Amino acid sequence: MNTFIRKTAKFSNLISAYISTYFTSTPVFVRIIPTDRCNLNCKYCWQKSDSSYEMRLGEYRLYLAKAKKLGVGMITFLGGEPMLWKYLYEAIAETSQKNILTDMTTNGLLLNTESIRKLGESGLDYLNISVDGIKTNPVTKKNSVIRNNLMHDLRKTKNKYRMHFRLNSVIFKNNFEDTAQLIEFSKENNAQLSLGFIVPPIEKNQSGGQDIYFGRQDEKELRQIVSYIISKKRSGYPIIDPDAYFMDIFRFINREKFWDCNYPTRYGWINVTPKGKIRSCTKKMDELDYHFTDLNPDNYRQLRKIFGENVKKCNIRCYSNCAYDSWYYMHNKVRMLKKIISRVRYGLSS
Ligand code: SF4
Ligand code: SF4
Repeated sequence: MNTFIRKTAKFSNLISAYISTYFTSTPVFVRIIPTDRCNLNCKYCWQKSDSSYEMRLGEYRLYLAKAKKLGVGMITFLGGEPMLWKYLYEAIAETSQKNILTDMTTNGLLLNTESIRKLGESGLDYLNISVDGIKTNPVTKKNSVIRNNLMHDLRKTKNKYRMHFRLNSVIFKNNFEDTAQLIEFSKENNAQLSLGFIVPPIEKNQSGGQDIYFGRQDEKELRQIVSYIISKKRSGYPIIDPDAYFMDIFRFINREKFWDCNYPTRYGWINVTPKGKIRSCTKKMDELDYHFTDLNPDNYRQLRKIFGENVKKCNIRCYSNCAYDSWYYMHNKVRMLKKIISRVRYGLSS
């Protein structure tokens, strides 16, 4: 099947997955976590462990068959670091052949000319690469796509296989100079950039040191950061998060409850751990007593109630840009439409 026909079939499947949520309780988006291990050690990380259990290919095939039966529209590969998983390319190819959109978030350490080409060949639709600055620093070393000069390979694979890519970056205390350089880099390389404020620890036993989190005392610094980012956005820089995400940071540090995490909604995510269990949120490393292969519309409704109870406790302490953006666009349909149009234009022009 040629790339255009395959993409059309995948988008039709996504639309039908979304429409079917109006009639029955099934997930649109599934996130597969084939391994919890990671080859980096970022100071702000709450989503990895040294557990040696990795999903087997046979197990993934069962989950894929289940996802197809449930009418899932998109499967995301997450970790830990998903590129450590030895079956990654086969899993992406088999998912793609079932006309399900595929997406992956990687720290980029294992990206190189060959692995980028193999991802494109396998049929990956979206590649999200974490990059926290032009240089490494004591908090994070996520900059390999820049260090190894991989933008040319990414563009080439995008043109050949329509594998879109974007850069994801975390803004933490005292790293804004790095972020500003990255913003320039994204413009020079016409690469979409998603910027998220650091998410403080959600569980009590997690701690990365208080020196990296923003608080009320940082309001002046945050005002400079927000005004810088918004001015860059307005002058055409490819930053994809809505202005509201940056402006609402002041409500977050003042502990207001002003946004609702999508996990309990019909367009929330289902996370599947290496053992096939459901994880309530990628920031929590938990495993609920539900196995993905047992999921059906009845227990999915129960699960969403559990997510709803969990979110009551964590939402006020969380400012994940991925969860916020998803909530924001679901409640601002006109802006969502504009965003889709600008993405399509961007995809055609770059
Ligand atoms: S790359 Fe991601 S999973 Fe790995 S340590 Fe950093 S934040 Fe955690
Ligand atoms: S608010 Fe949502 S994204 Fe944030 S920790 Fe809670 S469940 Fe996870």
